[in-house]
Amino acid sequence: MFQSMTDRRALLREVFPADAGEDTLPLWINGAWVAASPGQVFDSVDPALGETLVSVGSATRENLEDAVAAAQGAQREWWRLDGQDRARIMRRIADAIRDYAQALGTLDTLDAGRPIHDTITRDTERAARLFEFFAGTTDRLRGVSIPVQPGRSNSIEYEPIGIVGAITPWNYPLTNAAGKIAPALATGNAVILKPAEETPLSALMLAWVAHQAGLPAGLLNVLNGSGPTIGDAIVRHRDIGKITFTGSTSVGRGIGTLAGGALKSVTLELGGKTGFIVLADADLERAADALVFSAFNNAGQTCTAGSRLLVADSVADAFLRMVSARIGRIRAGDPLDPDTLVGPTISARHRDQIRARMKEAEAAGLVPLDAARVAVPEQGFFVPPTVYLDVDPAHALAREEIFGPIVTVSRFRDVDEAIAISNATPYGLATTVFTTNIQSARRISRRAQSGIVWVNTVHSLHPGSPYGGYKQSGVGLEMGEEAIRQHMHIKTIWSEDGDWQSPWGALVPA
Ligand code: NAD
Repeated sequence: MFQSMTDRRALLREVFPADAGEDTLPLWINGAWVAASPGQVFDSVDPALGETLVSVGSATRENLEDAVAAAQGAQREWWRLDGQDRARIMRRIADAIRDYAQALGTLDTLDAGRPIHDTITRDTERAARLFEFFAGTTDRLRGVSIPVQPGRSNSIEYEPIGIVGAITPWNYPLTNAAGKIAPALATGNAVILKPAEETPLSALMLAWVAHQAGLPAGLLNVLNGSGPTIGDAIVRHRDIGKITFTGSTSVGRGIGTLAGGALKSVTLELGGKTGFIVLADADLERAADALVFSAFNNAGQTCTAGSRLLVADSVADAFLRMVSARIGRIRAGDPLDPDTLVGPTISARHRDQIRARMKEAEAAGLVPLDAARVAVPEQGFFVPPTVYLDVDPAHALAREEIFGPIVTVSRFRDVDEAIAISNATPYGLATTVFTTNIQSARRISRRAQSGIVWVNTVHSLHPGSPYGGYKQSGVGLEMGEEAIRQHMHIKTIWSEDGDWQSPWGALVPA
């Protein structure tokens, strides 16, 4: 049984901060709710029922100018603080995220259709830990002294870039936002965040929660609205010194081109097509659990989803029986139901695109693993988790990002063939391998053309571990020490111990 649309709207109002008002949800600028300008609104749709959840304010260029002015003033003060004081505020934000976990998670479930099973637990905890990890770096931003010629000293110091423009996708709204805000704040920057149009809610509430926890006004501003208008204006704004973007490769390429033209620092986390390699010596039961989680968690809408199963020919039939048994037990349904594991896809458009790809594939002769059919609700934007058998690795379905609960299966004869197939996509975000042979694991890890390799594990993440892709999967890294450097300018400072001597000698006689 699905909760009705009336109940869902009531639930939204129950968890959303009451001081935001009862009408169109406002913007968050300079530590306060700001009502949308007349006519500047869009609807956020609940993907489980496919109906409008709430009307949300869309930012204008004037709103962006206000946010930039607020961010500039706030950022100067923020960087003047002792790093330990910044850390204390960031830890309070982490605690506040835990205090409001039920509300923040519920918003992502209503807005993105991501099951509550995950949003109020794993997602909110991950968001809190991102703030805690980066809080621990604020008083460790050490410059270094470099030995140069005797009589001179040279050091490098780190300084914030100033204002970071952060643009996020809809698949993990809260954690994507936290992953961009936390490193930017820790390094002394201010943030202007534009969430995806499909999922505007949790970022607004996160900004409010951070403010309650003591984050000074102006350091975090949330401007909802469309990518080509307000997103583009953020990328082009001359006072925004860095862009950090997560989303599709096509949009990322356009943003990279603009940012490059303006000589701005840019981090791009883009699409993926993870090869999930199962060698003949793998613990097959564990690998089957991992594949099903990796491919169908979040209805397959994960950039690192194990959407290409590459399995050793000798164990393929046995392995597919295990996968099929597990898929049969997946419960798809109302994401507000704590037992639901697979919810809807994000939108009618996205559902239709995925279904069209499935139809095309089936018309071309691809056969789904029938035993693994999952019943999905008729309403909303659901797509049944589906596994296509014996797919030529060169087939578009096996090379292109579908971003839905679809897996292609290709068989291989040896490790060399597995790694060759795995690398044969334009993307390079993650590779997964299941094997009990350490040498095979090492060989595949070294040869994988991807920023992440998971050996006998999937989707392991930690704020301390850098995250980013090779090839068409992106530029730059999030998380870890790397994220800290990518949010800062490096300044080289030289000084002379004594009197500087010109290499030209004294041109003017004493
Ligand atoms: P998208 O590229 O359509 O949109 C992402 C964001 O960019 C949204 O906020 C959107 O409004 C904004 N945008 C769109 N056009 C813009 C423009 N011209 N200028 C500025 N901003 C613009 O992606 P999506 O559909 O929201 O998300 C799915 C994609 O994200 C998938 O390709 C997925 O692989 C990728 N993704 C990657 C990672 C990663 O870490 N590599 C993580 C999550 C999602």
